[in-house]
Amino acid sequence: MNLADVLLPVPLPGLFTYAVPSAWDAAAQAGRRVIVPFGTKKSTTGIIVRRHNTPPSDPKVVVKNLIEVIDDETVVLPQQLALWQWISEYYLCSIGEVFKAALPGKLKKIPTSSRKKGEASGLFEGIAQSRTTLTAGNEGESLPSLSPAQSTALSSIHDQWQQHPVCLLHGVTSSGKTEIYIHLIAEAIARGEQVLYLLPEIVLTSQLTDRLRAVFGERLGVYHSKFSDKERADVWMRQLSDAPYDIIVGVRSSIFLPFQHLGLVIVDEEHEVNFKQQEPAPRYNARNVAILMAARAGARTLLGTATPSFESYYNARMGKYGLVQLTERYGQVQLPDVEVIDVKELRRKRLMQGPFSPQLLEGMRAALDAGEQVILFQNRRGFAPQVHCHVCGWVPRCPHCDVPLTLHKRSGMLTCHYCGFTTPIPEQCPACETADLRGCGFGTERIEEELGRLFPQARVARMDLDTTHTRTAYEQILDDFAHARTDILVGTQMVTKGLDFERVSIVGILSAETMLNQPDFRAYERAFQMMAQVAGRAGRRQQRGRVLLQTMSADLALIRQLVTNDYEQLYQEQMLERREFSYPPFTRFVMVYMKHRSADIIDALARDTSHRLRTVFGSRVLGPDEPPVSRISGLFIRRVIIKMEPALSFSQARQFLLQTRADLLAEHLYASAHIYFDVDPL
Ligand code: ADP
Ligand code: ZN
Ligand code: ZN
Repeated sequence: MNLADVLLPVPLPGLFTYAVPSAWDAAAQAGRRVIVPFGTKKSTTGIIVRRHNTPPSDPKVVVKNLIEVIDDETVVLPQQLALWQWISEYYLCSIGEVFKAALPGKLKKIPTSSRKKGEASGLFEGIAQSRTTLTAGNEGESLPSLSPAQSTALSSIHDQWQQHPVCLLHGVTSSGKTEIYIHLIAEAIARGEQVLYLLPEIVLTSQLTDRLRAVFGERLGVYHSKFSDKERADVWMRQLSDAPYDIIVGVRSSIFLPFQHLGLVIVDEEHEVNFKQQEPAPRYNARNVAILMAARAGARTLLGTATPSFESYYNARMGKYGLVQLTERYGQVQLPDVEVIDVKELRRKRLMQGPFSPQLLEGMRAALDAGEQVILFQNRRGFAPQVHCHVCGWVPRCPHCDVPLTLHKRSGMLTCHYCGFTTPIPEQCPACETADLRGCGFGTERIEEELGRLFPQARVARMDLDTTHTRTAYEQILDDFAHARTDILVGTQMVTKGLDFERVSIVGILSAETMLNQPDFRAYERAFQMMAQVAGRAGRRQQRGRVLLQTMSADLALIRQLVTNDYEQLYQEQMLERREFSYPPFTRFVMVYMKHRSADIIDALARDTSHRLRTVFGSRVLGPDEPPVSRISGLFIRRVIIKMEPALSFSQARQFLLQTRADLLAEHLYASAHIYFDVDPL
């Protein structure tokens, strides 16, 4: 029999076998797309993984014919298929789910005019043309000359790479890590290698691409989800052509792109949790997958950050990664001066003006008078995180999730930040019928409104999820701020990332509490990273910047460590704790999530799951427990954590986990439950 094993974008394990009609025999090669009949839908697209002649062992299986081969060329390279297989095994999901996440939508759709055999598929059209623009070799500026400290760091990175394929560059904010990356990129492309430059956040791509374009011109391709489907498919196909981009800058999904001769991977802001995909599967960490991908291609990896993740720093300290440290800012500008403002004390004395301390207001006023700019960081979007009735205390909550609704004043709506449920603000309290509903707490929208009142002359911009729906929207916000068309930028964690502005002299952290009070063993690590990063946006050129940090926990050691920028001390402290409690990096966590519509069934399922897992994993199993938000979109959620020590065989553990899930879902009671795994959760 003439057969092909085909990968389909479905959450079922394994590949699907189809018969190859003789008319398609020559065309049906591994790595090309095919249209096949599947399930209740008439047909779907897939990728041929291999050809063979072995009929399925189960004689009841009816092998259907594939309908059509779409491509004349390879669309997925063998190394991509191998990587996707690895991802599905490590992250405990199906390879179909990886394929679904990997391929741009356009390449998964059945082409509208299904072609006749022998006609070109047209995917490579336009690419030959772009090659001519490319070879017109039009990159502009020469490489920046490095400071002595940067040059030393650059040569140390090369030294470290002699022994370690992965090197961590721990360089303070504004030390000029990007300039070092630019040198490494230039060296790699001079050797004829390709470069993948990973960023954690779409918002960062425009500033960075401007800087890289100035040097590398059209050799640079950009890849992220705010690009249209067509643009993404074009980048994909171009990477398969004989004129691929030398450099790809992108967010986590760029690890799925085809690379023909990858030589260097840069993971910028490697500590960022955004590298981990939460929902849906594959729940992969793009930093970790990129390291693996580079190793397989024989490429080098550079992880760069001012605040390394404790996992990476641990790997560097243990000698698994190389380590290079850069302790001075470019131009020898001093690191910002961090002043702690005790909000508890000010509240007692009734000196706070809404979310602002007198010190912060004064600092802002002075900066604005001097024509300088201000960044304010508040980790809550919307107007007020919660609304309540002033008479009876009623709080509107999401009907589908276990959370209060957030007030968005401009739209006049209450919104659930978990499922998107939106409803108009009620005119009166449904419980006591008075008309006295009030918002409590401060979200970014409310801060923006307060600023309008306190600084009527200042031009204020807000950057959060609500204002950055489109690519043009966030590019506009950043561009306006960079060109001093706005004075104050207020935003959520988006403003803490690696942005580079020259006129920011004051950074205000409005409340450290939302970061400190997370029920998570990484809370302090995260809080330090976020606050040190946003602090690093201040005073990046001539004069030293100021950071005004408002907190209710002024006595906390962590706050002192922020003031002295003592990453090392926090790391040592936290490592003692993690070792004692067997937390990562000393163990690997696998989180088992269970979801169900029924409150009764979810508890039975959670008990049953943890019981079964304990028969093999014993005391490594923690829980079941409820996550902080225990119901989302109508589904109750429970979870169990398994702590796996390094000596434990992960492949055996994996087999058992998958078997346990299959057994549970086969039970009548749990038939409609969802059970999934999150490996190395963040
Ligand atoms: P980091 O990524 O370490 O926070 P950046 O790479 O953004 O720092 O550098 C901070 C600022 O200093 C940038 O505006 C950058 O252009 C400038 N800079 C850094 N190194 C150099 C250099 N060698 N020559 C000229 N400007 C530099
Ligand atoms: Zn009421
Ligand atoms: Zn909801």
